[in-house]
Amino acid sequence: MGKEKEYVTITIDDQEIQARPGEFIVDVARRHGIYIPVLCNLKGVKPAGSCRICTVLVNGRPMTSCTTPVADGMEITTRSPELEDFRRSVIEILFVEGNHFCPACEKSGNCELQALAYRFEIMVPRYPYQFPHREIDASWPLLLKDHNRCVLCKRCIRTIFDKEGHPIFAFRNRGHELEITIDPEYGKNMTDEMARQAAENCPVGALLYRKKHGFEIPIGKRKYDKEPIGSDVEKRKKEKVS
Ligand code: SF4
Repeated sequence: MGKEKEYVTITIDDQEIQARPGEFIVDVARRHGIYIPVLCNLKGVKPAGSCRICTVLVNGRPMTSCTTPVADGMEITTRSPELEDFRRSVIEILFVEGNHFCPACEKSGNCELQALAYRFEIMVPRYPYQFPHREIDASWPLLLKDHNRCVLCKRCIRTIFDKEGHPIFAFRNRGHELEITIDPEYGKNMTDEMARQAAENCPVGALLYRKKHGFEIPIGKRKYDKEPIGSDVEKRKKEKVS
């Protein structure tokens, strides 16, 4: 049996790149200053591949870049009019499927969905708004859960565990009824830090930490007031070039 190669050679947008076998395309691209938009993906966390926004073309075929490991000879395209339109349509679907009223949302300015909408210059979604009737759950002492804003990315499920390794969050129900829930048993082990981390990891305003506090960061100082989403990655590329 041959020894596994230490590096594989791929091209991303015609740029030849070396990567370690098993690395995910999105991570390799990020490292080289190529921004692939993501929503469910969180750096360093096992990917879920649920939102599909990070779809790229691998040897001409659409694949999610957060779940596809690199392999020798891959030719990857991260940008094309079709890919951009596909991503825009997914973002638009997320907006109409839930109730995202940005001006009234505490996550506004720090929300990844909103920041992506700005990046893709979405003014009016092409799909009709669904205006679903969903619950706001304020029964937990540290967190407020607003199902109207949840994009079902599973970031909370994948990142927040109690000391014994039990997940604090889970999905319940199916299809249109699918929603995030806090495990009634393990949820009792949720510490202040876990609640804060869950709210931070949530890309939208579906989990809000510390009831009674709100809108504490003034407009102008919020994350995406300072720079648009993806610009930190793209800046890296410009620095390399200059
Ligand atoms: S609550 Fe937030 S982190 Fe959890 S699934 Fe919904 S959007 Fe994702």
